[in-house]
This record gives sequence, C-alpha cells and structure tokens, in this order.
Amino acid sequence: MDLVIKNGTLVTPGQTLQRDIGIEGGKIVKVAQTIPAGARSIDASNKLILPGIIDAHTHMETPVKGVTSSDDFSTGTRAATAGGVTTIIDFTIQARGQSLREAIEARRKQADGRVYIDYALHCNLTDFQVNYLEEIPEIIASGIPSFKVFMAYRNEGIMVSNEDLKMLLEATAKYGGIVQIHAESGFLLDYLVEEASQKGNTSPVFHAKTRPNYVEEEAVVRAISLAGEAGGSLYLVHLSTKESVDAVRWGKKRGVKLFAETCPQYLVLDKALYEGSDGRYYITSPPLRGAKDREALWQGIKEGIIGVVGTDHCPFARTQKDSGKDIFFKTPNGLPGVETLLPIMYSEGVVKRGLSPNLLVELLAYNPARIFGLYPRKGAIEEGSDADLVIFNPERELKIQANELHMNTDFSPYEGLTIKGVPEITISRGEIIYERGNFPASPGRGKFIPATPTH
Ligand SMILES: [Zn+2]
Repeated sequence: MDLVIKNGTLVTPGQTLQRDIGIEGGKIVKVAQTIPAGARSIDASNKLILPGIIDAHTHMETPVKGVTSSDDFSTGTRAATAGGVTTIIDFTIQARGQSLREAIEARRKQADGRVYIDYALHCNLTDFQVNYLEEIPEIIASGIPSFKVFMAYRNEGIMVSNEDLKMLLEATAKYGGIVQIHAESGFLLDYLVEEASQKGNTSPVFHAKTRPNYVEEEAVVRAISLAGEAGGSLYLVHLSTKESVDAVRWGKKRGVKLFAETCPQYLVLDKALYEGSDGRYYITSPPLRGAKDREALWQGIKEGIIGVVGTDHCPFARTQKDSGKDIFFKTPNGLPGVETLLPIMYSEGVVKRGLSPNLLVELLAYNPARIFGLYPRKGAIEEGSDADLVIFNPERELKIQANELHMNTDFSPYEGLTIKGVPEITISRGEIIYERGNFPASPGRGKFIPATPTH
C-alpha cells in the first residue's frame, strides 16, 4: 500500500474504533484492526483520525461592497489544509445578464489550477431576468445540484421574490437538487437600515440593531412555508437566532425537507464586540447575537435540528474593513474562518460542551457530504472513499492569533481564544498536504468534484 495509518482512533458518525487505514491510489482501500506497514506508514497512537473536513460555505475572492474578500482560491485553500479542511464548497458569482452556465465557467477558471484541495460549487442565482429555469436540469447534471438565493439585499437588486423562490424550489425538486437560502428579510432590513441612517445611527453597533432576530425569523418562516408548498429541499445557511432554531424544528415536524446550518461565530462570539473600538472588524451578516441565541443553537445541534456547521469564510484585511469606518452599511461583511473551523468546533463543542466527536464528524464532514451529493466519495472513512483524512491531536493546546494563522488577513475574530485540540496532519486523496506547520502540497492539485443530485 502507498500509505498506512496505524494505531489511530477512528471517529465516524456512528462509532469510535481503533483501526488501521490502508491507502492506495488516493483511495481508502482497507480499514482493519491491523494492516502491515506500507511504502509509507504514520503512527497515529493517541491521535484521532477524522474524515477530511468539508467547509460547505466559503467565499474566496468574492466582491463585497467595492472590495474583494482577501483570500483567493490559492491562499484560502492552503490555509484550509492547516485546519484539516480537505474540501470546500464555494459559490459562483452571477453578473447581471449572465447565464448560470457562464457564471460557473468563470468561477471554475478562478479556482482550477490554484486550489490546494478539492472543491465543489453552489450556483448563486441573483439575476431573475435571465431564463434560469431552463438552465437548471443541465446545471444539475453537470455536478452542481445546489442553488443559492438571497431573501435580503432588495436595494442591490438581487433579492429573490416569493414567486421566483417557489418556482426555483419546484424546478430543483424535479431534478433532485436543493435550494439554499440566505434568510434575512430584505423588506424589513432595508427599511431598518434606512431609518437608522437617517437618524445618524451608523456606528457598528447599529449593524446588529438593524438586523434584529425577527428579520431572520420572518425570512426563515416564509422560506419553510414555501418549501412545504413547493415540495423541494431547502438548506438554510448561517442561522443565528433562537427563533430560527424553533422555526426549523416546526418545519421538520411538518415534514418539510429541511437542512439547517450555523457557523462558529454564532456559537462562540457575542454582539457586545460591536461596541468596542474595533467593532467594524466583526461586521458579518447576519450579525453576532446574544447568549440566549448561542444556547439555542447548541441545543439545536444536539437535537439534530442544525445539521451542518460551515464558516461563511469571507475574510478582509483590517484596512479593507476600515474603508467603511463608522458607517456600518459601507463596511464589507464577512469574517475569516476556514482554518479555525475544526479546532474551534472541537474545543468549544466537544471539550467545553460535551458534544461527542462522532456528532462533530457529522456536522463537519458526513452531513455536508450527504446533503450536497459528495458522499460516499467525501465525508466518510470507508473502503472506496477518497483518502481525505485528518490526524488530530486532542490534547494539544493553542492560543489563536491572527499572525500565526495562514488565511490572508491580519484579523481573527477569535484572537486570544485558547483552544484544545489541533489538526496535525491533513491528507487529501492519499497525499499529505499539511504536516505540523509544513505545507508540502502544490497549488492546482485540487480538483473540481461534481456532486450528485440526491434529493
Ligand atoms: Zn455566505
């Protein structure tokens, strides 16, 4: 065998087992109690072996409010390897009048030849004037079964109407696809921002105050109602409130085909950060919330109401955030996160809140792979799966500092947070791509992974 990982503790959704893993030709070919040494062997005694992490929500080199997120597909996916992430799912960017197919081709051109890890794409749909319904079957067949729409951003002209959302749900359902929703009510939001602006309330605190919980709730409930009627599958990105968890619980009880995601920032950080002198650096949408919301989100994870934790990775350098200084609606929204996803979720979830490592693996690998049609190639430690693995040291402690991280930004919202548990070795298709601070891989080795429609 090309590579054998010996004496590790395998963590899968269902089980924790002592097993050796044999890898050949980039695939896991054997999982057994003992496998003889291979061409190369790694001793993983006292380490956890996790499936490679899938960050189902990233925005590399994405334009936001006149600037571009500071990680491109090269720097962002290199940093990802240090965090145990072996697959990202990023988004296409549709220009006005552009067909969905053209938007996909343009995004593939940005990523191919530069990515360090494998990637898939969600198809972002922002121009409802084009004949998007006609394109859907072909796009799903080409390996992109998920379509993302915004219920916010009416003034920017990219908000989905109720009619378009219903038609999109019906069309994707027919071909096994899924619709992703950014659930903030564009109607309420634009009005609240306008009102605050007229009163001169433009400091970062008002970013959160103009996006109160009911702005998210109204959109979440409306999306669930429409999905219940249209019969399609719905994936709600970056949920941040208790009200959303309650709404998803209600929707699932009704039998709506519903999947919910939250992000580490909503599980760990507090909206009080907007009051500090560097409040603008924490501006992201939806905004950070309070303790009651965080408790509800963790509870939702434990109940299986929230099935995925992605990052919404959309980093900016401090100087880029400064461009909107003291005017919250001019500040580009977004936070870095792809590199810290696994260590923060292990430390805050498993160590501090008693989540099982098995549930962690569901949230960060198995569920995103299943929902977005990458399973069993990705998200699993099974014979025949891609050999995407993380060798994880559950005992090592680390203090998070932006200048020690590898994402292309000088800011981390988790600065100074001590975490327990860090990835030591990351393997993608049998190749060691990160090893204790070293990056042996080359850009461009990552591949586009076509997803299978599974809904
Ligand atoms: Zn996003």
